[in-house]
Amino acid sequence: MLKRNVIAICAALALSACASRLNTHPVAPSNLGAPIAEAAVIESISRPGVVSFEKIVAADWHFPNTTRPPGTSEWRIRELDAQIYFYPIRHPRFGLYFIDAGMPDDYAPYMGPIVRGVMHDDYGYQLRASTEQWVREHEAPRGVFVTHLHYDHVLGVAPLSHDIPIYIGPRDGSHENFFYTFIRQPTREALERRTVYEWQFAPPQQNELAIIDVFGDGSVYAIHAPGHTPGSIAYLVNSTDGPQLVTGDAVHSREAWTGELEEATGFEPDLPQIFASQSALRRLAARIPGLTAHPGHQSLAP
Ligand SMILES: [Zn+2]
Repeated sequence: MLKRNVIAICAALALSACASRLNTHPVAPSNLGAPIAEAAVIESISRPGVVSFEKIVAADWHFPNTTRPPGTSEWRIRELDAQIYFYPIRHPRFGLYFIDAGMPDDYAPYMGPIVRGVMHDDYGYQLRASTEQWVREHEAPRGVFVTHLHYDHVLGVAPLSHDIPIYIGPRDGSHENFFYTFIRQPTREALERRTVYEWQFAPPQQNELAIIDVFGDGSVYAIHAPGHTPGSIAYLVNSTDGPQLVTGDAVHSREAWTGELEEATGFEPDLPQIFASQSALRRLAARIPGLTAHPGHQSLAP
């Protein structure tokens, strides 16, 4: 028993010694947005939206998603048929922004051999529309509001101009994880020589979400939804086609959004926190008539 404990302790020490963080880039307080209470968001979102909202499928892939029926303890792994998205949103006064960044024409130069191999051999990654292609055919965004700093949400900005700033949630990418040793490179390359701003949330009221009114006019909200990563953000857009909620990986799949399954990727720093964030997002969505939700890697409607 003693020997097994010693081995376990040595393994834990070795893993923690190898743990690394996604972001070592300097971060500045956001130059956009101010905190707002949930009740004020509900009130403002009932007005007609002014922001155009587009959903682009950047790529198809699949990955193992750990799931269980709610109230049970038996976790099972299933292959999630998934997609990578980014969302161009255009404000009539403030211009074009992206929610998440999509993927570049070629991911290979930004990744080490292990993750490159996993993307190709295990995840069956197939590019559909790169961010460079979209920008060539339209225009470059003035900034990117990322849901979190994993490469499938931020790497698309890497080949674009370094003038494009990134907006992230509190302390996102600053926590250490052994797994990040393998996936930190593409995130760090995306942030390289770029200004990274952090949303400045106020402590939320009891049982409420912490929310930022991004442009100060009730058109786009950043919502702190920690758990998958400490700074995970969902974005609520009052679009010309009705309210749109982009959950990021606070919710990966259709079934996690509807509550049919609980899910975990296995490297969340705080699993109870992700379930609390999912419940809070569902509660908020239930109070907004006509809302369309966009889970991180699946669409609700085909
Ligand atoms: Zn993701």
